[in-house]
Amino acid sequence: MKTLDIGRLRADTPACEKLIHFNNAGSSLMPTPVYRAVLDHLALEQTIGGYAAEDQACPILEDFYDAFATLLNCDRAEIAYVENATRAWDMAFYSLPLKEGDRILTVEAEYVSNFLAFLHQARRRGLEIDVVPSDAGGQLDLNAMERMITPKTRLIAITHVPTQGGLVNPAEEVGKIARRHGITYLLDACQSVGQMPLDVEKIGCQLLSGTGRKFLRGPRGTGFLYVSKDIIDRLDPPFIDLHAANWTDARNFEIRPDARRFENWESYVAGRVGLRAAVGYALALGLDQIRDRVSMLADRLRASLSELPGVKVQDLGRVRSGIVTFTKEGEQPRDIQARLDAADIAVSVSSKTSAQLDFGRRGLSQVVRASVHYFNTEDEIGRFCEALGGAK
Ligand SMILES: *Cc1c(COP(=O)(O)O)cnc(C)c1O
Repeated sequence: MKTLDIGRLRADTPACEKLIHFNNAGSSLMPTPVYRAVLDHLALEQTIGGYAAEDQACPILEDFYDAFATLLNCDRAEIAYVENATRAWDMAFYSLPLKEGDRILTVEAEYVSNFLAFLHQARRRGLEIDVVPSDAGGQLDLNAMERMITPKTRLIAITHVPTQGGLVNPAEEVGKIARRHGITYLLDACQSVGQMPLDVEKIGCQLLSGTGRKFLRGPRGTGFLYVSKDIIDRLDPPFIDLHAANWTDARNFEIRPDARRFENWESYVAGRVGLRAAVGYALALGLDQIRDRVSMLADRLRASLSELPGVKVQDLGRVRSGIVTFTKEGEQPRDIQARLDAADIAVSVSSKTSAQLDFGRRGLSQVVRASVHYFNTEDEIGRFCEALGGAK
């Protein structure tokens, strides 16, 4: 079993010298090799031009697909490079052959933009949205989910790790339900990819989306989509271009057979180089090791926070992630964020406008979100709690 060399990992993350970065769920810090990979490609573009630079980077750009295939345990042909997780998810969702009366099964903690897409298409196509309630532990209720399935249920779409809370939804158990009923399963893995192992075979999803900048520590403006080859023939992209399709003769075209039908011809090539480096970096450390350290730190942070007077940890779920949410008596989340920012501590705030169902049910309007990664330390947790302080 490998152990992580935290000193070396922090040396690869120069901001650690000054900043306590507890906003890894918002945007983590690129490690130096990732940052270098992006800069080197930009330098190449400046020197020989963008097209020639892309040609020269061809082996790296091809390896992007192999790196993700290893990360997710899928085939390289099942991966698309997309500019962010939202658009990756959209490309999957808007491609599905859903028609009037078809039902979507989702969860209370579903990501805001996904839910907006459900509402958008429900209005346009007459779809029905069924929301699975949460169980006593706060995660989605598997028994309720199975009971809510009808002959019209065409899609199960859930968020693995919600943005606004520390829980991890039981993605594999959902996969078993989806498989039993022959329903397409779309998993938003934006907050789980890079902080825990993900295996699409084990999970049993046909579609999975994620972003580069969060726990994967890639550059901004990068994301990816996994599409199982078992269903790709049934997915009609909402729009295509000369990369996604071939203009075979004057009146005909053919859509690419692989997941790259969801890519754009023009894209942020340096970002793809950087994201590939970020996946390589995570794989070299080991996703099991990363998960173990992230959950150890997050548990430590929750325990320390709950000792502070007036501070309430708001996380639910039997299994928890690196995302820690809390409120504090007498101080608004935005004020806490600003005060910590002035002390070189980065956190973010989650609001009800991004979590109408989840926060609505729990009576929350805003929470502070402190999200840790493996390069954070117990010392930082101590200093964080000191800076936060208890209620007077
Ligand atoms: C951040 C986030 C997204 C959106 O990712 P982008 O790359 O910003 O589009 C989607 N789902 C979840 C759960 C997220 O936390």
